[in-house]
Amino acid sequence: MKWVERDEIHVPIRGAMWTIQFVGRKDMPRATWGDCNHEKRLIRVRKDLSPLNFTDTLIHEIKHAQQYELDEQFVSETATEMASIIFATNKFDVYPRGKPQKNKKRK
Ligand SMILES: [Zn+2]
Repeated sequence: MKWVERDEIHVPIRGAMWTIQFVGRKDMPRATWGDCNHEKRLIRVRKDLSPLNFTDTLIHEIKHAQQYELDEQFVSETATEMASIIFATNKFDVYPRGKPQKNKKRK
């Protein structure tokens, strides 16, 4: 199966349309994997991350979008848990897993 890689998608989050962009490493501040801008309703996630870290970061930023007042540590820990559980099911292995990356930083 051939996958078409998208640069951005438009999705509803809590009743409002958001844009999620998949960007390169150089499009983001140094060592930043993702961010969430409520004013622009824009999430950015680096597309060069391993599948696990990409999923973790995407969930993380969606949680910020859903509820911006959530505590950063709570968002971080629960997003990592959710990504790990999703990958533990082995239902989403559409491409090889990458090694977990260190020094993660998100906003
Ligand atoms: Zn965060």
